[in-house]
Amino acid sequence: MIIIASFIFAYILSGTGSPISKEHFDIPSDTTGVCPVTGDKLSGESPSFRYIDKEISFCNDGCVMAFKKEPAKYINSGLKCMPCNEDDSNHNISAVHDGVKYYFCGKGCKSKFEADAEKYLNEYKK
Ligand SMILES: [Zn+2]
Ligand SMILES: [Zn+2]
Repeated sequence: MIIIASFIFAYILSGTGSPISKEHFDIPSDTTGVCPVTGDKLSGESPSFRYIDKEISFCNDGCVMAFKKEPAKYINSGLKCMPCNEDDSNHNISAVHDGVKYYFCGKGCKSKFEADAEKYLNEYKK
């Protein structure tokens, strides 16, 4: 009886598999704790900059400036197109507002943004 019970127990263990799958380690590390420009670990007092709906921290102001010029260089995916709220902006369709570059899914959204940039930026500050 004990043998049967332990066999069933072993079967259950192998059947459920390990709860820690490899995928857990493949999630792209989010920007918290690491400067997206240099990849360096951040110390306590790091400047931060809000890009659309993300608060991002950097190791210094130089990195913030580099980021503002070309965010797509440092954020590979999830660049938001503000007028339509989609995360699939085209890196080749961009507009600069207040020294910060923003990306859009198409020319239509770019024009909407340029017509009233502050309105869209404020919507994503909430
Ligand atoms: Zn940095
Ligand atoms: Zn769009």
